[in-house]
Amino acid sequence: MCAALSAREQGASVLVLERAPKEEAGGNSAFTAGNIRTVFNGVDDIRALCPDLSDDEVAMTDFGTYTEDQFYDDMGRLTEYKTDPDMCELLVTRSLDTMKWMRGKGVRFLPIYGKQAFKIDGKFKFWGGLVVSAWGGGPGLVEALTEACAKNDIKVMYGARATSLIHDDEGVHGARVRLREEGKTISIAARAVVMAAGGFQANPEMRTRYLGPGWDLAKVRGTRFNTGDGINMALAAGARPYGNWSGCHAVGWDYNAPEFGDLDVGDNFQKHSYPWGVMINADGKRFVDEGYDFRNYTYAKYGRIILEQPKQMAWQVFDNKIIPALRDEYRIRQVTKVRANTLEELAEKLEGVDGKQFLREIKAYNAAVRQDIPYNPNIKDGRCTEGLAVDKTNWANTIDEAPFEAYQTTCGVTFTFGGIRINTKGQAMDTEEVEIPGLYAAGENVGGLFWFNYPGGTGLMAGAVFGKIAGESAGKAAVGNS
Ligand SMILES: Cc1cc2nc3c(=O)[nH]c(=O)nc-3n(C[C@H](O)[C@H](O)[C@H](O)COP(=O)(O)OP(=O)(O)OC[C@H]3O[C@@H](n4cnc5c(N)ncnc54)[C@H](O)[C@@H]3O)c2cc1C
Repeated sequence: MCAALSAREQGASVLVLERAPKEEAGGNSAFTAGNIRTVFNGVDDIRALCPDLSDDEVAMTDFGTYTEDQFYDDMGRLTEYKTDPDMCELLVTRSLDTMKWMRGKGVRFLPIYGKQAFKIDGKFKFWGGLVVSAWGGGPGLVEALTEACAKNDIKVMYGARATSLIHDDEGVHGARVRLREEGKTISIAARAVVMAAGGFQANPEMRTRYLGPGWDLAKVRGTRFNTGDGINMALAAGARPYGNWSGCHAVGWDYNAPEFGDLDVGDNFQKHSYPWGVMINADGKRFVDEGYDFRNYTYAKYGRIILEQPKQMAWQVFDNKIIPALRDEYRIRQVTKVRANTLEELAEKLEGVDGKQFLREIKAYNAAVRQDIPYNPNIKDGRCTEGLAVDKTNWANTIDEAPFEAYQTTCGVTFTFGGIRINTKGQAMDTEEVEIPGLYAAGENVGGLFWFNYPGGTGLMAGAVFGKIAGESAGKAAVGNS
């Protein structure tokens, strides 16, 4: 949608092809909470994005800053410095301007008080660099962008699945499109095509082929329509594969969630309070440092670690000290949860788990907690365990106060990291590193930005930044002004 709006600004006439029917439209973007990571240099930038903020709200909030340097640091650290430097620079330096541009198109934002801020001494303090979200979350974001398209004479065809690109030695000239309701395939000519059809996470065959054995067993957090079509079409037109093809964003996800995402539940199958508790596998053992870093910086890679556990599952365990502070998603109706008044009773209820080992594990864990260090969820508090095979670095709370609750999770795949190569204008590159005339790409259709891990809230920002860039270039090419 951002690409469409940006191309339209160049004077091009634009058609959006959406594979999904209208009621399921909007891709993964519609499944999100709408949280967007952007650079901001203080409260004035937040006010520019959220003009509805009152003086009282500003007075009671410490937004902090998220500077370009901080964003670069997060991208570098989390991707183990493999992020493509040119793409990373565009993401970071264009983030705030792109947010303001979206605001100008009618997208409204608000601070994420509920999930990204803690109240300290009467004042909300934001943490983790992620401060704003779109009004109405992902559905609100998609609705606002769809309305903006309608206002700008951009037509959206629903149930229209692009199946191949029309291309020759001169480049790309349009697409073949399967119309779902009519049951026929048509050709649509175009001077430029922007591929923004997401990753291949909803395609179990491609997941297993590229991410590896076992990935066919993961659940899909979002849309069932992102099956790698855009990537495959671009490759068939000569585009170069690029980025972390064996990598993906994957989280702890309710064990009994459906095969694909459910728009009514959105991202509430996720279970993101694990840093405050412990995770136990089928062998009754802890297997990862739950408190290695803030949730934003670990959640995207812990899904893979859960997938690697026996039976591809883990139970998250909490006691009475933490239960009242669990995130909202722990209180939805569709949750796989057990509750008990003793650890022994809980051990019996943890389906699929070696209960005796679980009790030994919790005993050893409790004994290893440095109780002399105070627990503080607002900072990396250093309250750790010592001497365990898998130590916990922060927020090590003992599990010893009834009642106890446990939540069963498996791996939920969010999106894949591999895609095609683009240049800094969003134009697809071929395997000889030459631009393919008429072909542009954005979002998860593109590889190179994310490797191994990802700072929460960056997917939507990347989709918007690179969508805007690709749309601008495609628009210029279409009107003969490139
Ligand atoms: C549950 C969940 C929660 C998330 N939360 C956040 C968050 O809070 N913040 C954040 O930044 N990111 C979040 N993400 C990641 C985010 O959704 C993605 O990074 C982002 O939406 C990618 O945008 P995109 O435009 O590349 O793909 P999408 O938004 O998935 O759009 C791809 C579109 O292409 C269409 N399509 C696919 N194939 C075809 C075809 N052949 N022809 C025509 N159309 C086709 C699809 O139907 C879809 O509309 C979340 C993801 C999930 C699943």
